[in-house]
Amino acid sequence: MPTVAENIETIRARIAAAVLRAGRAPESVRLVAASKGQSPELLRQALACGQSLFGENYLQEARKKKEGLTDQPGARWHFIGHLQSNKARIAAELFDCIETVDNLRLAGALEKHLAALDKTMPVLVQVNIGREAQKAGVLPEEAGSLCRSLRQFPHLVVQGLMAMPPLCAEPEQSRPFFRRLRELAEGLAAEKILGGPGPLELSMGMSADFEVAVEEGATLVRVGTALFGARECVGC
Ligand SMILES: *Cc1c(COP(=O)(O)O)cnc(C)c1O
Repeated sequence: MPTVAENIETIRARIAAAVLRAGRAPESVRLVAASKGQSPELLRQALACGQSLFGENYLQEARKKKEGLTDQPGARWHFIGHLQSNKARIAAELFDCIETVDNLRLAGALEKHLAALDKTMPVLVQVNIGREAQKAGVLPEEAGSLCRSLRQFPHLVVQGLMAMPPLCAEPEQSRPFFRRLRELAEGLAAEKILGGPGPLELSMGMSADFEVAVEEGATLVRVGTALFGARECVGC
């Protein structure tokens, strides 16, 4: 079995090749190590390779991992799971970015706790790009009005959109969804509804389809099993 270091090297090379194919700048894509269900030891191995950005889905699990890695001040944490507004305080404390804001109530709860912490938080709006009944995220046509509403919250910096398209058998089948997310973001940016001083962020693509996502404009790819191997235990 390849080591985490070998996997990271391979993923970086695949991202670099996809970036090149798309004629994009290499530094325009960041790798988020989706580390739910992975042991702290594996996170340490990733950190040793300069992989310092992690995506976590569960608050308790993330807290435990952060506590075990206090000697690694360079680690950065994105929340990529489903967040209930009654857990906003913990999320506001623990994370450097929340990628899954999809309703006003959650945003309002985050704002309240961030204000108390005097902390400004980059966030992404999660879009249910495949219009799936069971999936989190705002519908594409509602993304603009949510982004507009989020402007009332001074401690939230809306940097872009995030999506998880329907599970597909082939990576190519994800492409239309990635493209749709990019076009949605570009449209909102053109109307000045989305985006600010920094680059417009698009978080899309996982182990099976991150290269297609990069070709379609992803700035954040969230890769779990291809980087760490199979998850040991999710949510513990
Ligand atoms: C688990 C997870 C990933 C990573 O999935 P892999 O298929 O293991 O790469 C990416 N994004 C989100 C939101 C996840 O929950």
